[in-house]
Amino acid sequence: MIKYEPDKLLAKIAPERKIKKLLKSNITLKKTALSFVDAVDFIDKKDVMTTALKVIKGYKERIKDDPEIEEEILKDPKQLIQRVQNEVIFQIAEGIKDKYDGERYVWLPSDADEPRPEHQLNYGIEFTIGDGEMPGDEYGCRCGMQILTEDSSLEL
Ligand SMILES: [Zn+2]
Repeated sequence: MIKYEPDKLLAKIAPERKIKKLLKSNITLKKTALSFVDAVDFIDKKDVMTTALKVIKGYKERIKDDPEIEEEILKDPKQLIQRVQNEVIFQIAEGIKDKYDGERYVWLPSDADEPRPEHQLNYGIEFTIGDGEMPGDEYGCRCGMQILTEDSSLEL
């Protein structure tokens, strides 16, 4: 049995402090800071980079319109953290679908600030992987899964 909890996994593989380091003070991407992704085989570094670059491009445009927000963005690049984490979670969910297709799982609660009401209805209920909507399918979903398999840790 595998307990997959997105927030715990993110804290381990893609924590805020590591994502913050992606943003250089001149609002560009520090590519070497992407090395945290290298430690995790099943994460596509190029996709994470594309996501980060898109957010940074948006930041640059916003700063052009309103230079005063630059300091705030550098101090707390919320959007960058959220988008990069969402991308990582999305890739993990895809990996789970590939690896554990057809296995049963129990839908676990999200610890998002505002969990989706439709997902709350699924908490504690058993489903089949690859069958219908799953945790992580929807961008930003932070619901977890108890995968009813013989494995004891996530090996994607
Ligand atoms: Zn959810």
